[in-house]
Parts: sequence; structure tokens; C-alpha cells
Amino acid sequence: MFHSIQGEGHFVGAPSIFIRFGGCNLSCSWCDTEFDKWTEMNLREIISEMESWECKRVVLTGGEPALQDIATLGSVLRPLGYELAIETNGTIELPADALDWICVSPKDQIYPNVKLRQLVGDELKVVWVGQDLSMYDDYKKGFRYHYVQPCYIETEDLAWNGENFRDTYDLVKSNPDWRLSLQTHKWIGVL
Ligand code: SF4
Repeated sequence: MFHSIQGEGHFVGAPSIFIRFGGCNLSCSWCDTEFDKWTEMNLREIISEMESWECKRVVLTGGEPALQDIATLGSVLRPLGYELAIETNGTIELPADALDWICVSPKDQIYPNVKLRQLVGDELKVVWVGQDLSMYDDYKKGFRYHYVQPCYIETEDLAWNGENFRDTYDLVKSNPDWRLSLQTHKWIGVL
């Protein structure tokens, strides 16, 4: 868990508590999360740590947070005044009415055989690795906001990432239904 500022997507710039869960049902090559290492915490310990920060916005992330008991988290944390958002890969259907904000970042551009099961939400955030955005034409109808984000690969150099940023910039200009999302937290070196 950590307290930081949302660096990407719709709520960029918003102070937030991040609960980053271990474990994922996918293994993307560009993944920037060490989700195979974790510290076990019960809900009481989680709330106690949350209370040490002056912040009521919480982002459930991972790894894949939908592997956790989201219904219980929602039923306990929201009555305490926390606004609960999730960032998920969309392969596991979420319980209804447990969350205030659902952001799905699908990975079917690299896993064409993995079925998307969370078909509605607030924010669709696509990591762009060269795929045709028309593959989301149907899926994006279930979401209010549509973002496309260049795949930032830390092991590649500045020139490679810069070119990828530029290509994504051009992509958004020619696909005006979409908005550009950048991982600004990486520029300033914070989580
Ligand atoms: S779905 Fe997300 S957390 Fe899971 S491997 Fe891919 S990038 Fe990493």
C-alpha cells in the first residue's frame, strides 16, 4: 500500500491511496509490477494503514485486484467514506455496486483467446502496442471514457519510448473518440 498521486488515466493528478494486490491471471511482457511478491494483511490492518493518510480516494490495483474479495472491500470501505476505484484487466467480472469507479485495461491485444468478462465500466484504458483501435469498437460502448496509453518500456531507451509516444500522439489525433493517457508518475520517479 502507498499514498501517491494518480499518474495516468481519467483521475491523473488526484491524490490517492493505492492498494496493490499480489497475483495476476496474466503475464504481460511489459508488466511493471512485481506482483509475485506480497505482504499478507487483513482488512483491519489495511484500514489502519489507510487511516494514517489524509485521503479518501482509494485505487485497487495489482497484479489483478479482481482476484480479491471486492464485494467485501466495497461493503466495508465505502461506508467509512472511501471512494473506491479499481484498475483491472477485465477478465474477471466484478460484483455489481461494490465500486465507485471501474477502469478496465484490456490485454486482449496480446491474449486474443482470453475472454473479457467485465463489459461495463467508467474508463477504458488501452495500452497501445501497435494494435488497430477498431478492435475495441464494440467493447468501448460499455464505457464512458476511452483512453489510449503508449506502452512505456523501462528497459528500452529514451529514443524508443519517445518514438512510441509520438506514434500514440498521432494515433489519438486520427481517432478523436480516444484521449491520450501518459504515465506521468514515471516521469517524476514516483509509484
Ligand atoms: S494484466 Fe496487468 S498486472 Fe497482470 S501481467 Fe498484465 S500488466 Fe501485469
